[in-house]
Amino acid sequence: MSLLADKVALITGGSRGIGAAIALRFAEEGANVAFTYRSSAEQAKAVEAELQSKGITAKGYQSDAGSFEQSEALVSVVLADFGKIDILVNNAGITRDNLMLRMTEDQWDAVIATNLKSIFNLTKQVIRPMMKNRGGSIINISSIVGVTGNAGQANYAASKAGIIGFSKSIAKEMGSRNLRCNVIAPGFIETDMTDELDEKTKAEYLNNIPMKRLGRGDEVANACVFLGSDLSSYVTGQVLSVCGGLNT
Ligand code: NDP
Repeated sequence: MSLLADKVALITGGSRGIGAAIALRFAEEGANVAFTYRSSAEQAKAVEAELQSKGITAKGYQSDAGSFEQSEALVSVVLADFGKIDILVNNAGITRDNLMLRMTEDQWDAVIATNLKSIFNLTKQVIRPMMKNRGGSIINISSIVGVTGNAGQANYAASKAGIIGFSKSIAKEMGSRNLRCNVIAPGFIETDMTDELDEKTKAEYLNNIPMKRLGRGDEVANACVFLGSDLSSYVTGQVLSVCGGLNT
């Protein structure tokens, strides 16, 4: 069964990690996929080819999710190329970890722009076309850190908590238009982002995860398939943790 047949998805940050896994699962479920990247052009080409090998239409676009102008231009090009957008996955994200005593203004601004302003930038552009299309699903990738906070990640936690408040507000504003907006809060997922963590931090996380292992990108992607598809047609404004029980 193809859960996303005939749907068009736009996924930010699809060249690597969780975003690439979402793009692949969506393609496997029959969606046509537009995705973005910031600088990994070669990796994006490889992802594009892998998606196309599933028999769907796929294209990667270089676009900084933190830029309002670039997001506006992106959505108009994607609409021209694909005709519509049924699902938006705001996945692009970065970390610039530091204790508050040492955190710089640049570290704060970079994380807020890429992780939080991006959500506004892209949502703002897709809601009109989605309304015209009589509905849509917006999936915002937060983090359990947005719910719990984390020492050394005040910028990241603030951006991820902001995503939750934003998404619940959009769910309330747009529900009557059949436009749904939900959040996924991943725990500790194996990607380049978590590769950067030192072994001691990783061991501490593992110890606290009831399932005693890191998660995989495809496990986050499966939750996105649910929220992007009609299986979740009466689900909006919710935060779904995909964290092996860490946030319990
Ligand atoms: P990665 O660092 O592996 O990949 C990040 C992706 O985002 C890349 O495709 C990157 O593009 C893209 N990206 C970064 N900045 C921008 C930008 N300004 N505009 C467009 N694209 C951008 O991250 P993960 O896959 O680990 O994380 C994906 C999301 O999941 C993030 O929002 C993250 O906060 C969240 N998350 C991750 C967890 C984890 O354990 N990994 C846990 C909880 C949440 P490029 O390749 O060009 O740099």
